Amino acid sequence: MVIKDAKFICSNTKAEQCPQTTLPEYAFIGRSNVGKSSLINMLTGRLKLAKTSSFPGKTQLINHFLINEQWYLVDLPGYGWAKVSKESREKWGKMIKYYLQNRPNLACVLVLIDSRLPPQKPDLDFMEMLGTMGVPFVLIFTKIDKQSGQKTDANIAAYMKTLEETWEELPLYMKSSSTTRQGREEVLAFIEEVNKR
Ligand code: GDP
Repeated sequence: MVIKDAKFICSNTKAEQCPQTTLPEYAFIGRSNVGKSSLINMLTGRLKLAKTSSFPGKTQLINHFLINEQWYLVDLPGYGWAKVSKESREKWGKMIKYYLQNRPNLACVLVLIDSRLPPQKPDLDFMEMLGTMGVPFVLIFTKIDKQSGQKTDANIAAYMKTLEETWEELPLYMKSSSTTRQGREEVLAFIEEVNKR
């Protein structure tokens, strides 16, 4: 897919304030620092479309970007900040759950996972939530330039083994690097394919 146009539309905290649309949308989410903003900027070819390195305490917003006037890319607030209060975590949980349950045009959630780490509980818990809600998702293993391909593949294999313990069917996964732009075509081709369904 060629990205001809990518524009910021709005930031909200509630699903019903998000654009009223029948266009499909794809939501990107992951633990803080996983490389979500960098990936969104890499995919859209816009250096500062998504703000990198947001910090805890900042208002957590659902950001909508319209791509090629065809689909929405949604930047969801990340989870897993070490020093975030229980209250903030609960607020995040409520907002995300409400969003996931109230966007009938949500085609897929792309869960970003740091390819260098063993499975992390916040990620596994989030996938569990998606599964319970019946929301389709895929995984993107990020920052693959930071280690050898062999190491990345070994980590992913270990990850899949962990998922096998709870999931009957393993999710589709892709690998990415915002530095080398690896994975860009694959992620965009995936979105294009789902858009055709
Ligand atoms: P976010 O909090 O998930 O939005 O993460 P950011 O996109 O702000 O990235 C967090 C840090 O990781 C920043 O210092 C980025 O420059 C760095 N980073 C993000 N993606 C990559 C990547 O693919 N490769 C490398 N080497 N660094 C990355």
